[in-house]
Amino acid sequence: MGSKERYHWLAQNVKVSGVDDMVLLSKINEDAITENLKKRYMDDYIFTYIGPVLISVNPFKQLPYFTDREAQYENPPHIYALADNMYRNMMIDNENQCVIISGESGAGKTVAAKFIMSYVSKVSGGGDKVQHVKDIILQSNPLLEAFGNAKTVRNNNSSRFGKYFEIQFSRGGAPDGGKISNFLLEKTRVVSQNPGERSFHIYYQVLVCVCAMSVVGLSVEEQDSVLQLVAGILHLGNISFREENNYAVVESQDCETRQLLAFPAFLLGVPQDGLCSKLTSRMMDSKWGGTTESIAVTLSTEQACFSRDALSKALYTRLFDFLVDCVNKAIQKDQEEFNIGVLDIYGFEIFQRNGFEQFCINFVNEKLQQIFIELTLKAEQDEYVQEGIQWTPIEYFNNKVVCDLIESKLNPLGLMSVLDDVCATMHAKGEGADQTLLQKLQGQIGSHEHFSSWNKGFIIHHYAGKVSYDVSGFCERNRDVLFNDIIELMQSTNSLVQTLMKCTPHYIRCIKPNETKRPRDWEDNRARHQVEYLGLRENIRVRRAGYAYRRAFNKFLQRYAILTKETWPRWKGKERQGVLHLLNSVHMDQDQFQLGKTKVFIKAPESLFLLEEMRERK
Ligand code: ATP
Ligand code: MG
Repeated sequence: MGSKERYHWLAQNVKVSGVDDMVLLSKINEDAITENLKKRYMDDYIFTYIGPVLISVNPFKQLPYFTDREAQYENPPHIYALADNMYRNMMIDNENQCVIISGESGAGKTVAAKFIMSYVSKVSGGGDKVQHVKDIILQSNPLLEAFGNAKTVRNNNSSRFGKYFEIQFSRGGAPDGGKISNFLLEKTRVVSQNPGERSFHIYYQVLVCVCAMSVVGLSVEEQDSVLQLVAGILHLGNISFREENNYAVVESQDCETRQLLAFPAFLLGVPQDGLCSKLTSRMMDSKWGGTTESIAVTLSTEQACFSRDALSKALYTRLFDFLVDCVNKAIQKDQEEFNIGVLDIYGFEIFQRNGFEQFCINFVNEKLQQIFIELTLKAEQDEYVQEGIQWTPIEYFNNKVVCDLIESKLNPLGLMSVLDDVCATMHAKGEGADQTLLQKLQGQIGSHEHFSSWNKGFIIHHYAGKVSYDVSGFCERNRDVLFNDIIELMQSTNSLVQTLMKCTPHYIRCIKPNETKRPRDWEDNRARHQVEYLGLRENIRVRRAGYAYRRAFNKFLQRYAILTKETWPRWKGKERQGVLHLLNSVHMDQDQFQLGKTKVFIKAPESLFLLEEMRERK
């Protein structure tokens, strides 16, 4: 069967339930989009397209269509079809691909990422080395989830770290390597959790991930050390302090002080006295008559708690990085050829009380939305302009203004810079710093249209909606991480953006239809709100106004040269002329395509199916 026939066959064999590509909606507004998604959801069709963008609605139940059969005969729209498309594009165009999966917490991002990985491992070639890499790629999920996921109020298996996973391929298309980059582990969770939430899964399932640790190549000794460290951090958290002559001393409630320290010290492999002085004092340089001396300064109980938590968080972060390193070492290859990257980063969060963690997470999501806008809406329009294609411009909301409000380093200063300024000058104990921050923010960015303040903090009007942040704890948390996390966050967001910009991007937009986590439960308002903030309406409008397919002249010629004798095996003239000759020879309608400066633009995907079909017949 040719691809066009197959497409029609598939189209007829799929029960018609709403429209499967929303470019075909007769009315384009949020209500119509939400209604279409609902119709499909209720009929168990969780996937819908907007051109190449895949919308996925969390069904909260197992659906039957993820078997090997679907991996072979993907019914459109399907996540396997998107994965297949990435894989083919990579092979045909020799270009790296990436998929950016977005959506709020519990919407199904991680599940989608796993489907992509399992699809790739199903369809691609074999061999021992490749099988080994596939095993690690699949087994690294439960391992990293044990250490990096936790139960939250919104998702029982919420990813508390961001992950960019590259599957690397040989020229022949076999996955023979990989690389994981992790961002922004929510390390605070190891020392405190909101009501109804838990610490990382590993603390409740110490044994489950032991098998996964073997697969990624940790020796038995290393596995023991990992679990010992996990236990050590847990016991560190049991240490409390009491004040004695203004100084902190380790508190003993129901056992001997030394005993309380002995176990964590043993587990962490440090001397007891060392641990004790590390927790209750701090080394400071003191200048005295031209010489510098290090002296130990005792801490208050508050400071001691702070240093205990800082130690726990630092240990846990390093442990997590160590595990990611182990996975990376086990799948690294000498020379990178092609790759498919999957970005799964935790979603936008709005709670009753939103603190510094929510602020960081929401900022990352704000940036990702900006990349989406840059790469789809804006890039689409920019490209038409650049290529000299005739078309009518479309207005859309660009959230760059919100990103600037947060990250700008120049006039006017962004929120992060103001925060860093306050932290750099704050009193050692940090008293009143949060209030100073709030005042400075009011003074410096108070008039910004996406910013306002309330008595305990400030409100940012994100692309996803208004979020009110409680400022208390901002300075302390920012100071704790000032010289690593934030800088790391900024750098990783920036280098991540660059990595993504170099790939051919694909998108999965996940929607969470309810807060009950129950199947067949559809809350119109929630869904509609996500449709709104994901910018689906704009997405459809831009897509409809434009051209579904575009390709550089040389790549187009390479692929379809076989269709005419003048272009086969090689067109000798100018590439643009070659493309024109090709399209005229196959009698493509004049209004179906335009030639830009370097690329050919084709309106409807059906025209392309026709070309593919002819190509297959040759
Ligand atoms: P977070 O940002 O908190 O990490 P997430 O978007 O990664 O959230 P997931 O963990 O992927 O959310 O999904 C939450 C839960 O929803 C899953 O544990 C699963 O129970 C259910 N779920 C998501 N997608 C699907 C699917 N395609 N089929 C069946 N169940 C699903
Ligand atoms: Mg997740």
